[in-house]
Amino acid sequence: DIVAVGDVVDYKLNQDGTGVINEIHPRKNYISRKAPRIKGAGTRGERLEQIVASNIDNLVIVSSAKSPKFNNRLIDRLIVAGESSHINLIIVINKIDLDPSHNTRQWSELYTKIGYQLFETSVTERKGIEELKNSMSGKINLIWGQSGVGKSSLLNIIYPSLKLKVGAVSDSTSKGKHTTVTSIIKKVDENTFVIDTPGMREIDPYGIRKEDLGHYFKEFLPFADSCRFNTCTHYHEPECAVVTAVQNELIHHERYQSYLNILETIEDDMNF
Ligand code: GDP
Ligand code: ZN
Repeated sequence: DIVAVGDVVDYKLNQDGTGVINEIHPRKNYISRKAPRIKGAGTRGERLEQIVASNIDNLVIVSSAKSPKFNNRLIDRLIVAGESSHINLIIVINKIDLDPSHNTRQWSELYTKIGYQLFETSVTERKGIEELKNSMSGKINLIWGQSGVGKSSLLNIIYPSLKLKVGAVSDSTSKGKHTTVTSIIKKVDENTFVIDTPGMREIDPYGIRKEDLGHYFKEFLPFADSCRFNTCTHYHEPECAVVTAVQNELIHHERYQSYLNILETIEDDMNF
């Protein structure tokens, strides 16, 4: 992939209406993933980096309180993708109308306490919509989240001109991992853009090293400085200040569990 969605380019227009790109301007950031394995190549061999989108202002992580079930592991994976690409993060918990006893409130509090901007929304009850719209306004927004959480519904209510198909998912949770992903960018307002990545519900962050993963869990940072080893992966090392902080409930155990899960997938990939 030479050019990615979100790139700023110089191009020359031909007389027949086609054009030629002469130059791609430097990217301020980009989200990438490991390209799918080439069929027949076996499980060995390197997987190339595939750029999903570039020059993103906000990574909008959309989840739902219910149906599908709230999935904090996926949110944490998407946070890692955003943090490692230096992109501002916005977390949305949609369908709060389906959670009258506020079971997801504890999650809202957890992510807010870490320092993330979070919106509880409901499309059916029109809650949190204006607030989310304000944060997306004037920015390039990459929308990401599991299918069925209400991404299309939210975008439609915020930007009625989009007219996205709701519930139109030919479920690609498994398929998306192995097929080529096309991202689509749409102008929704004067300076506002939305990038959708149909077919990609999961993510496989590219090129994150074990010893760097902790940097992308923001709330670990104040403790990580006090670990005995500066390459500490906060797992098996002695005198790890992050593990101590988890034991003292200064770091939430769920976040630490997400960290360990991701760490494990990185280790697996290193065995190639
Ligand atoms: P997407 O796959 O993430 O784009 O999700 P869709 O926008 O297609 O929505 C999936 C289903 O959830 C549809 O049946 C929507 O009507 C429904 N839905 C979306 N937002 C809400 C909401 O806030 N509350 C409720 N109860 N249902 C919603
Ligand atoms: Zn440590």
